[in-house]
Amino acid sequence: MAVIIDGKKVAKEILQNLADETVFMSPAPGLAVIIVGDDPASKIYVSSKKKKASELGFNSIVVELPESVSQSELLAKIEELNDDEKINAILVQMPLPKHLDKNTIIEKINPIKDVDCFHPYNVGKIATGDKPYVYPCTPKGIIRLLEYYDIAVEGKHAVVIGRSNIVGRPMAQMLLNMNATVTICHSRTKNLADITRTADILICAAGKANLVTSDMVKDGVVVVDVGMNRNSSGKLCGDVDFSAVEKKASYITPVPGGVGPMTICSLMVNTVDLHKIQKNDKYS
Ligand code: NAD
Repeated sequence: MAVIIDGKKVAKEILQNLADETVFMSPAPGLAVIIVGDDPASKIYVSSKKKKASELGFNSIVVELPESVSQSELLAKIEELNDDEKINAILVQMPLPKHLDKNTIIEKINPIKDVDCFHPYNVGKIATGDKPYVYPCTPKGIIRLLEYYDIAVEGKHAVVIGRSNIVGRPMAQMLLNMNATVTICHSRTKNLADITRTADILICAAGKANLVTSDMVKDGVVVVDVGMNRNSSGKLCGDVDFSAVEKKASYITPVPGGVGPMTICSLMVNTVDLHKIQKNDKYS
C-alpha cells in the first residue's frame, strides 16, 4: 500500500509559516486577480484565491471586468497594476473570452509581477534551465510535495501526461532541470500504457477520469494526480483509478487533498516572493 501524500497538511504547514513571516511585512504583499466575464468555475477559483490572500493579511484585490471588455481596456488595466507599487503580483484568470488575445495580455504583465509564471520571459527562463522570478503554481506545489516526502528526482524516469502551458510543459521542464529523465505524453501519444509502465514518477495532468489504471503502472511508482474531474456520480476525482493504483504505488496523491491545496499555497508563496524581489530590486 502506498503512502498517501497529504497535500492539505503540507499546504497548511507552509501557509502557517508564511503567515508568521508576513504578519510584520509592511507594506503587505499585494495580489491583484483580474477576472473577465461570469464563468462560474473561474469565479469560484478567484474567490478562493482572494479569501486565502485576505486571511494572510495581503492587500488582495479582484478586478472584475465585463465579458465585453476590449483588449485595449484590459491592457490599460494591466498597465495600471504594473505601475501600482502596492501590487506585487498580477494574475489574469483563464480562460479569457475568445475576442481577447491571451498571449498579448500575458505579455503585458511585467515579468517581475507575473505570479503564474506565464510570461515568455519567465517561461523562457525555465526552458533554458535558468530561474524565473517565480515558478508556476501547480508544478511548484508538486515539487514541494516531492521534497517534503523526500522523494528523489535525479536520475528517475519521470513521465508527465499533459503538455499544457499551466501544468504539463513547465512540470516536465522543472523535472528535467532537477536531472530527471523526462518523457512527455499527450493526446496524440501512441501506446500510452507502454510509456507509463516505465515511469518511476508519473505526473497525470490530462483532465480525464480513470485515464490511468493499475495495469499502466509498475510496482513502486510515485503517482501525482493533478486531474480535477467529476465522475459519473458527480464526485470530484483525478485522472487515476486511485483505489487500484494505490495498491502498486509507493506514494500517491489523492483527489481531493493532494495537488489542489498546494496550487493555491504556491500562489501565496509566490506573491510574498515577488514582494521580496521587488523590494530588493526597486525600493532598497
Ligand atoms: P488542458 O486541457 O489544457 O491539457 C490537458 C493535456 O492532457 C493536453 O496536453 C492533452 O494533450 C493531454 N491529454 C488529454 N487527453 C489525453 C489522453 N487521453 N492521453 C494522454 N494525454 C491526454 O488541461 P490542464 O489545464 O493542463 O489541466 C489538466 C487537469 O488538471 C484538469 O483536470 C485540470 O482541472 C487539472 N488542474 C488541477 C490543478 C490543481 O491545482 N489541482 C491545477 C491546474 C489544472
